[in-house]
Amino acid sequence: MPTSFFTAAGNFHRGNLHTHSTNSDGALAPEEVCRRYQAEGYDFIALTDHFVGQFNYPITDTTACRNGNFTTILGAELHTGAMENGNSWHMVAVGLPADFSPPHTPYLRRAGDSESAESLAQRARDAGAFVVIVHPHWSGMTEADARTITAAHAVEIYNHGCIIDNGRGEGFVALEHLLNEGRRLNLVAADDAHFNTPDHFGGWVMVKALENTPEALLNALNAGQFYSSLGPEIRDIRVTEQAVEVDCSSVVTIIVQGQGSATATLHGEAMTTGRVSLHRLAKSPWIRISITDRAGKRAWSNPIWIDG
Ligand SMILES: [Zn+2]
Ligand SMILES: [Zn+2]
Repeated sequence: MPTSFFTAAGNFHRGNLHTHSTNSDGALAPEEVCRRYQAEGYDFIALTDHFVGQFNYPITDTTACRNGNFTTILGAELHTGAMENGNSWHMVAVGLPADFSPPHTPYLRRAGDSESAESLAQRARDAGAFVVIVHPHWSGMTEADARTITAAHAVEIYNHGCIIDNGRGEGFVALEHLLNEGRRLNLVAADDAHFNTPDHFGGWVMVKALENTPEALLNALNAGQFYSSLGPEIRDIRVTEQAVEVDCSSVVTIIVQGQGSATATLHGEAMTTGRVSLHRLAKSPWIRISITDRAGKRAWSNPIWIDG
């Protein structure tokens, strides 16, 4: 089953996949960004500065910030033009080679026109990166826009900076439109931290890997062996023909979502395990699990395709 990684060998590593520094429009130097994330209990981050000409196409070198308990994956937020509304595309690529060749995108806020977003995303994927369509609500992304990024691994369904700064930080609708068209995409919660507002330490991924190295983490990301959280922990998910069983930190709600309007919900007190019938989701090719704790903090599994 696609959830078997929960009980496979290794540990969960907490990471933020979307962050900026003074190498683009962030407020803090890369070293201080890394120091703060490690101090807050993260195991790794990807610094993803804006890969545009005005910042000299940075792929920020964070290798000096790695130590025995913390690592970094090189990456960037890629931009090119343009979406249907004329705005520049925003896509995060985690695991880029340091010599990834730039598109012609001179400015962040004004789209370049030399390379399609489809092509840029494909080049990043071909170079080994984990490619994420980020903050679709804030971007004003249309369904037609989203469909063109065929190389994406995931959609950012929670962007903490957008939640804090503009109230447009969720991407579930964009993700589910694509799932309902058969696209096998995962989901990501991230900070998009710039550290000039309270935009940090809000949303993260928990990646199951044998070791906390860039290579092991990237392999696990590309394989979908992770979940996303604002606080609660998902410890195991077991899917049978009849039901889903979830083991987690203490929560009050467990929801299973499927195609269209199909959902099944379990409410309770201090639940650390729950069994949800799939009766109402019997026709759905995919399901996903969302849990909420007493404080309202949520966590989300990746979509699980019933046919494996
Ligand atoms: Zn962005
Ligand atoms: Zn960003």
